[in-house]
Amino acid sequence: MKAAVQYETGGPLVVDDVELDDPQENEILVKIAACGVCHSDLHFIKGDMPVPVPVVIGHEGAGVVEKVGPGVTSFQPGDHVLMMVAFSCGKCRYCLEGRPTMCVENLPIQMMATLPYGAKRLRKGDQQLSHLFGLAAFAEYAVVHERSAVKIREDAPMDVVCLMGCGITTGLGAAINTTGMKAGESVVVYGCGGVGLSAIMGAKLSGAGKLIAVDTLDNKLEKAKELGADYVVKAGVEDAPAKVKELTGGGADYAIEAVGNASVETQAFASIHNGGKLIIVGMAPITDVLAIAPFEFLLGKSIVGTVQGDIVAPIEIPRYVDMFMEGKLPIDKLITRTYKLDEINEAFAALEKGEVIRSVVKM
Ligand SMILES: [Zn+2]
Ligand SMILES: [Zn+2]
Repeated sequence: MKAAVQYETGGPLVVDDVELDDPQENEILVKIAACGVCHSDLHFIKGDMPVPVPVVIGHEGAGVVEKVGPGVTSFQPGDHVLMMVAFSCGKCRYCLEGRPTMCVENLPIQMMATLPYGAKRLRKGDQQLSHLFGLAAFAEYAVVHERSAVKIREDAPMDVVCLMGCGITTGLGAAINTTGMKAGESVVVYGCGGVGLSAIMGAKLSGAGKLIAVDTLDNKLEKAKELGADYVVKAGVEDAPAKVKELTGGGADYAIEAVGNASVETQAFASIHNGGKLIIVGMAPITDVLAIAPFEFLLGKSIVGTVQGDIVAPIEIPRYVDMFMEGKLPIDKLITRTYKLDEINEAFAALEKGEVIRSVVKM
């Protein structure tokens, strides 16, 4: 089958013929229909985040189950599924506490780029290939652990809802789950790419009072308005924290940082009032360091992280898919381009230049 392989750190992706083993115990074979082009893939491609090469990338896959391995009980051939960037084992303390995106098995999967528990099913000749996020979805087929997938309704367009596998739910969940916000509270979102715009949609759905979007690009700020932002602030032209304080009368209740940049995180922290909360969603390069005066914490301010918006995927994904189908969660408005698999390098170049909000590769 064809797959997008990264053979060298920083190197271009090669759409190559590779071999894929049959699904083993608790694994499923999925025929991929579409996969979202997410900024976190770009971090691995550029080497901002470490990944063992050669690796098949792509982690926002949607498709149809073709075959199930021994012991699989949750799926059967023909089921429509979304892949989830965060695996959950169902057994560790985080899974048992109801925080499955924090599962202890997640970091090894992310760092080692294998299926859960170290398995690899991809080969090029004698050489084994890694599976980014245990998914490797920029390919015609993928073998994934059954707990890395969620079943969805069959009438949902896979080339749209595939985005819910990572970026969209990260932003939505950060606003809906991680803030703990009440209706009427104010929210500022730094960064209006796919994740930030999803946070704006999530904050709107949660009844945000003043909802402020910050970005450097006019096209992204326009989109933020379309999706519910009450005010937009053009960073680089305006002093964003000062403007947020002016609009909210002293600072927002919540700031959501969806850029992945330490200096933007510092500005987002400066935009909340005493007692306010900053949620860091963006994936900053692994060597970045955040400098905050500890005194600020004596003012009751807090900073929290989130993994995929703290969602419980089997519950929330079908709910978000329903909301999309009912017109309440217009994530299709985030998709500005679609590509074929052999255009994958163009897709990432456009993402890096900020030309697209979100794009999707159709297999
Ligand atoms: Zn777990
Ligand atoms: Zn992603």
